[in-house]
Amino acid sequence: MNMRYINFLLITLLSFFSHIAIAETNMKIFELQTKDGIQKIQIQERNEVFLPQEIISISNADIKFNDKYTRSLSQVRKNNGRFVNIGAVDENTDIETVCRNFLEKNYDQLSIDHNNLQLKKAEFAGNRWYVIFNQIHNGISVKSSSVRFTIAKNGNIQTFEATYFDDITLSADKPSVSTLECKKAAIIGLPSSEENYNFKRLNNDSPVIVPYLLNGKYSYRLAYEYEVTNMIEFYTALVDAKTGALLSRYNHTNEAFAKGDVYNNPNAPLVNSPIGNATFSIAGKNYISNRNGSIDLPAGSANKQFTTNLSGKFAKMYTTDKLAKDGSTQIKPYSFTGTVNDDGINMIGKTDNFDEVVRTLYYHTNFIHDYITNIDGQFNAYLTEFPCIVELLPASSLEKITGITFNAFSSGDKSISFYAANHNIILIGRLPSVIYHEYGHSINYVMYSNWSKHGRMISSTCNEALADITAAFALDSPDIFENAVAPGYEQYLSRYNLTRNLDNDYTYPEILIHECHHDSQVLSGALWDLRKAIGIEMAELIVHFARREAPDAFTLDAALANWFEAVVKAADGGMGEFLYFDEILQAFDRHKIGFNLLAKTRFEHKGTDDSEDLISLPIVAQLPELYMPKQVEEVFVNYYTNWDSEVQTIALTKNGDTYEGKLPKPDKVTRYYYYFTMKNPYNGELIRSPRNHIAFVGYKKLYENNCETIANWEVTNENNTERGWINKEPTYAFVSSPEALLSPIVDHTTGQGKCWRTGYEVVNYAIKTLHSTSTLTSPTITFSGEYPIFSYYYYLLNTNTYSGSLKIEFSFDNGQTWVLAKEYSKQVHFPEAWTWKRDFIHIRKFAGENPNYSNMKVRFVAFGNSTSGYFTFFVDDIAIYNTDTPGSIDVDKIVNNITISPNPASYEAELKFNRELINPEINVIDALGNIIYSIKTDGNYSTFPLNVNNLESGVYFLQINSGKTTLQTNLTVVK
Ligand SMILES: [Zn+2]
Repeated sequence: MNMRYINFLLITLLSFFSHIAIAETNMKIFELQTKDGIQKIQIQERNEVFLPQEIISISNADIKFNDKYTRSLSQVRKNNGRFVNIGAVDENTDIETVCRNFLEKNYDQLSIDHNNLQLKKAEFAGNRWYVIFNQIHNGISVKSSSVRFTIAKNGNIQTFEATYFDDITLSADKPSVSTLECKKAAIIGLPSSEENYNFKRLNNDSPVIVPYLLNGKYSYRLAYEYEVTNMIEFYTALVDAKTGALLSRYNHTNEAFAKGDVYNNPNAPLVNSPIGNATFSIAGKNYISNRNGSIDLPAGSANKQFTTNLSGKFAKMYTTDKLAKDGSTQIKPYSFTGTVNDDGINMIGKTDNFDEVVRTLYYHTNFIHDYITNIDGQFNAYLTEFPCIVELLPASSLEKITGITFNAFSSGDKSISFYAANHNIILIGRLPSVIYHEYGHSINYVMYSNWSKHGRMISSTCNEALADITAAFALDSPDIFENAVAPGYEQYLSRYNLTRNLDNDYTYPEILIHECHHDSQVLSGALWDLRKAIGIEMAELIVHFARREAPDAFTLDAALANWFEAVVKAADGGMGEFLYFDEILQAFDRHKIGFNLLAKTRFEHKGTDDSEDLISLPIVAQLPELYMPKQVEEVFVNYYTNWDSEVQTIALTKNGDTYEGKLPKPDKVTRYYYYFTMKNPYNGELIRSPRNHIAFVGYKKLYENNCETIANWEVTNENNTERGWINKEPTYAFVSSPEALLSPIVDHTTGQGKCWRTGYEVVNYAIKTLHSTSTLTSPTITFSGEYPIFSYYYYLLNTNTYSGSLKIEFSFDNGQTWVLAKEYSKQVHFPEAWTWKRDFIHIRKFAGENPNYSNMKVRFVAFGNSTSGYFTFFVDDIAIYNTDTPGSIDVDKIVNNITISPNPASYEAELKFNRELINPEINVIDALGNIIYSIKTDGNYSTFPLNVNNLESGVYFLQINSGKTTLQTNLTVVK
């Protein structure tokens, strides 16, 4: 078995799909012995032609090796998911033996006999061992062979590449060809005669074994390798050591290489690497290296001076070393001057001016560019003029410019900026994963400006996830940003949220801390899981092409759900066969951003109108068809009322993508609390739609104001409040697109006129107040009623950790004195924010001993505390309802997950929670809403003994708060 592996690279979307069948037939399962027993790994096997071709005729034309001859290492870095682990290693490990043992144990699978390997190099750097062997056969080295490992400290084999020939047969005859015959063969067809060339036999004068491709099969030849030169010409030739035939010859005459020392890991030694796609100037003429660094220099270039700006089609290097007087950045092209040597151009040394960092950025920017265009050939069309302008900004000046401690960023409009790496803290300019991450943002920018209806990517969390996954896929490692800071500066890891782990089991929404770099790991984690399940090549393709769907949304839950659907679509490619669907579903479900989230975010219900009569309330919900093999078939409405806490469930009737049903006619004045559930067709799980709804039946509406005009409303702004309350359509926007005008308002009074909202015109951020308030005061409200309820719709929008609050206050003396009735404050996030909600307040609780409702006013006080964050409030459709039946309004019998025994109780009641609550706070509230008894606990409780000895007979309302959980129920005390 000859093993030649290489990652396959696809050029267009079309070939992406046609390739799937090929990929499957070439997949080979290996069962490798590892530390944890046998692991099955799938490896892409592919024959690659990189060896000398049969020589058909000899002419004056060059006889060439295939270009790849000089770079003949094939690659196998694929192991379909898990890394093979061979047990932890460190710098003192005898790594050669470890590698040999691995090969020996797996000989049956790999057919690599380690006795035929010679250690070429083993180096421990950046927490990894880099090991490379050459193949020898009967003491003769085999051209093009190599077996290499990259082994992480934890024992994961991160790279395993093998080009090993296990079927070499060579007759035992000694080489018989004379030196003279070799020389003659080596110059067959060349213009000059033997005496005009210098001959140098390579490989210490020994022959080498050349794997030789003839009629599609390998045979093996013993050959001498010669360097043939004169003042102008330069060749390498392989001459058959037994027959004297010229096997191949490569003309290097005008070939030189542009190379330079670059970092592949900040802590590892510099690696001399090709500098491709760059322009070099020698004696007033420009020469451009190809992507492999090959450059044709005229004879006699040696010892001449070259200069370069490291400027090419895909990257242009700039540096900034001082600030302009007006505070603007002053960038200038990078410049490097050196001397051409015998090999060509070698940019080494000069560490004083961050030259290695510049080269590293240039090298890896070109690398990632090649990488992405190999995945998507069409992408090149967008990239024809995509100079990635890499500015090297000294950290100190950048902080002065922006006031923000950026470390590296993509401006989105095609430039990437980096801190200089010389201040010993941030090593990011030397770290490929950071470069790939920032370039990943540029890819997002290009894809979304072409394909998104918004013209940009709105979800910063998804943007970070895709930038991270670009880096992780390019490196095929989830450990991005490893070694991002120098030892001793670890505090910067958390400051910049650089400790990201893509091989994680974070779930949504539990992961949220509302910082996009951190929260993004739920999506990048799912995408990495997908890579583990289906292999790197397919994952790269699918995730990249999912970007063409431009999945995105204003709310994170919808954006994540859209990503799930887009990945399903990209894998399917419109074929309707749902390729890799199970793997995708599993990966996204594992992080709780799969089917449930998708169904939830697509589910729509506009809220049911109230009725003053006791009637059955019609319920209509909608779930548009999902791009999934199975659709949701069963949807239920679940309700309870203020007088019956038991949840009732009614199945809705499906009619296309609409689901219909009715809340039953009650026999008394009733508040319905309802929510929807639907059955996940893949696992039967019930998905609960995130919103709860309230509908009033039988209540008399005493007052109504739909907020359509500003008549008699009053707005006062204090402390130079910007963007306070205005009467506008219920819209907000970050971008000026028509979709943005409509997108968030799906479940309230869309298209039905105006509301009150803080904010400004479209495109400007919403309320922008600093220690300041904007107060909206209602007209005077006059009514009479025994137990009035104030009802309103509100919408809170907050996108980051900005603080602000919305207070609702009542006045019963026409605005002279005010009492706080409700407050929404600080970080209001999913699921509380980003949607219209209805709420209500029992007015009587705040109206004093002898309530008088002839001069009531309501005011909404918006407080903002930032000039950069934004916190938007919407208020609409206020109303006052009444009933004369006190029992039906004062206490909500909302029982969820608490049982009380006995109930009624006289002395002590035992509360039982459905799970352990941490430090629960228990409030006992009377019928008028006063907290009469509050217990703060310390510890975890699944039951709690509540002493009711001191309570009067009556019905009480229990509220138990634990973290973000609030449980409520009723307790009856009988004496
Ligand atoms: Zn980023």
